[in-house]
Amino acid sequence: MKVIVMGAGITGVTSAWYLAKAGHEVFVLERNAGAARETSFGNGGQISVSHAEPWANPSAPLKLLRWLGREDAPLLFRLRADPDQWKWGLQFLRECTSARSRHNMIQILNLGTYSRSSLQELRAETGIRYDHLQRGILHFYTSQKEFDAALEPARIMREMGCERQVIDRDEVVRLEPALAQIAPRLAGATYTSADESGDVHLFTTRLAELCAQRGVNFRYGVRVQALRTEAGSMTGVEIASETGGYETVTGDAYVLALGSFSPQLARQAGVPLSIYPAKGYSATLPVLDPALAPEVSLTDDEYKLVFSRLGDRLRVAGTAELNGYGLALNPVRCEALVKRTLEIFPGMSRPELAQYWAGLRPATPGNVPYIGASKVRGLYLNTGHGTLGWTHGCGSGRAVAEIIDGRQPEVDFAFTGREAMQPAPRLAAA
Ligand SMILES: Cc1cc2nc3c(=O)[nH]c(=O)nc-3n(C[C@H](O)[C@H](O)[C@H](O)COP(=O)(O)OP(=O)(O)OC[C@H]3O[C@@H](n4cnc5c(N)ncnc54)[C@H](O)[C@@H]3O)c2cc1C
Repeated sequence: MKVIVMGAGITGVTSAWYLAKAGHEVFVLERNAGAARETSFGNGGQISVSHAEPWANPSAPLKLLRWLGREDAPLLFRLRADPDQWKWGLQFLRECTSARSRHNMIQILNLGTYSRSSLQELRAETGIRYDHLQRGILHFYTSQKEFDAALEPARIMREMGCERQVIDRDEVVRLEPALAQIAPRLAGATYTSADESGDVHLFTTRLAELCAQRGVNFRYGVRVQALRTEAGSMTGVEIASETGGYETVTGDAYVLALGSFSPQLARQAGVPLSIYPAKGYSATLPVLDPALAPEVSLTDDEYKLVFSRLGDRLRVAGTAELNGYGLALNPVRCEALVKRTLEIFPGMSRPELAQYWAGLRPATPGNVPYIGASKVRGLYLNTGHGTLGWTHGCGSGRAVAEIIDGRQPEVDFAFTGREAMQPAPRLAAA
């Protein structure tokens, strides 16, 4: 089959990889001059199956109210005259019940487990290198209340096969000596040894090179303008080409992997997607003293920040702002990232060396992505990965390729259009 993949972020490139492996002729359309130049550029670096608890959970509505208007809030709704934002906000509130939150957590966890093992297989097969570390993820809490609230989700995760263990202070410092400074303030911590970290930009660009070696045709510098349909089937994709002219690209199947920009195009084809951009920030610091910087990937619950060691750099990322598509860097948020990093790891780097970045997470209300068929024949979805697109990247690409091939992915996940498919075995949950 000839398959057109729209978008060359992590989800588009992994889709292309698995489709090419299955023997399809693959074309990737991307508006930037290379792969992974938007949200898959400077993220937190975590392959975190253990971060399966969605933002939409029973404690979220109260927290959001408290955080409204606070410049340093971890999750901030800046209310706008934007019907899409309000609609998304209401859907988010509906996902906050304990039943919905549990359902979503199970989807996220199953996909995460499947995806992490797909990444490990891909790594073993290709030898791809991307400053990755298999040192686990340690989640630390300075608030007793937040730690107590984390125990139940951690228990559910263990029940579902994700070994997120509760550990004490001594164990924290044994696993990551660079945390010694903050240890006396810790209320508790959890550790998931099977989780990983690595540079999503390096991975995606190197995988794009491997795809090209397998014959995938990347067209950079082309903008997807419209999806063309007729009688409920895809007939083509209209693009502004490399030279600025208009062209229609046709194939037997189409994969929509445009991150936060997916809903506008899908809507034209009559496919409603509830995706809203959640802007986040990262700072990357050169490690000046390796003994003072962590190697285990970390999550700081108080500030909702993640830290990943990427070779001789330390990446810190976090915060989420629902405020449209702007990418301007807010200096207050940028400085807060570095201040907190150097408070925990004094002397590991210097603030003036930080490189700042902002990206738009393609967030769905329940944090569960759209993967699978759509109601338009020939149009497949691989989008809406929110906070976990790196974690879910390989599994999503592999699953969408299998669905296009008419096969059932071996993971229990709420794929779109699955009514046409057989029930999946519960492999990931086993
Ligand atoms: C601060 C921050 C920290 C994060 N940390 C983590 C983490 O630690 N772990 C984790 O798992 N996830 C993390 N994420 C989430 C993760 O980065 C995203 O979920 C993921 O990058 C989304 O990938 P994507 O391929 O869907 O979108 P993108 O990477 O945005 O790719 C979409 C592509 O489509 C292209 N495109 C868009 N519109 C058009 C058009 N009209 N025509 C042609 N091309 C177009 C874009 O140029 C882009 O290349 C983080 C995100 C942020 C912002």
